[in-house]
Amino acid sequence: MYGPTEHRYNRLTWPEMNEAIARQPVVILPTGSTEQHGRHLPLDVDLFLTESICLETGRRAEGKVLVLPPIPYGLNLHHIDFPGTIHVEPEVFIAFCLNVTKSVAYHGFEKILLVNGHGSNVPLIDLVARRTTLETDSLCAACHYFSLAIEAFAKIKDTEVVAHADEFETSLYLHLATERVQMDKAGAADDVRGRYLSSDSTLPYARFNDYWSRWTDLGVHGDARTATAEKGKVIFETTVARLLELVDEWRAWPIAERRSFHDRPPQRQIRW
Ligand SMILES: [Zn+2]
Repeated sequence: MYGPTEHRYNRLTWPEMNEAIARQPVVILPTGSTEQHGRHLPLDVDLFLTESICLETGRRAEGKVLVLPPIPYGLNLHHIDFPGTIHVEPEVFIAFCLNVTKSVAYHGFEKILLVNGHGSNVPLIDLVARRTTLETDSLCAACHYFSLAIEAFAKIKDTEVVAHADEFETSLYLHLATERVQMDKAGAADDVRGRYLSSDSTLPYARFNDYWSRWTDLGVHGDARTATAEKGKVIFETTVARLLELVDEWRAWPIAERRSFHDRPPQRQIRW
């Protein structure tokens, strides 16, 4: 039986959806990946961490959030040399996510939020959010959960690089499911860096991301050996708390009427 506090989108029946639409919760779409994360972590890191954060946010939001089933795959050809990684073409990813967000908008949900856990999806979710806003009457925003935690993590981290299967992700996984982390296999690796370029886009000057098999044997970027569940708890609690604030801000965000400033009526039937 549905209660106004159910936070999982697909646990509602269609009559219950009408009640939910009347209440206008923020509909969250978690986006992850199925991608190698070193010798010590499973391939579900980005998916599991993002979905866990979104579901806990939904649990605490008391009716103000509905969490969609997550997107489990992302842009990943740069990791394909490591066994198991699944790659989805960026055009396919954008089209698929857009079909989901447009369906949500179609039913009348006005505020949609993409919460991403996979770095290479960042430019793609930005486009999904923009296109959803421009092509529907709803508003859609996108965030990478990592950016909500980065300031808090900066105060407690022991290593410099925050990138992939590192101190950050390993700590968060340790907090949520210690038994699935093989800490005895945790390692460290750095990318190749010049003055303007790095093989993992860690420098701010030029964007570039190489095939990872060209520069790491481990599939790690950063140092996972310093990870602890305590640091993971700080990441988790900070992210959920800030996501709850973001949800409140998003729900209150006004949707103003569009206005045309043309002297003569434009050709409104044209679609791009
Ligand atoms: Zn990751």
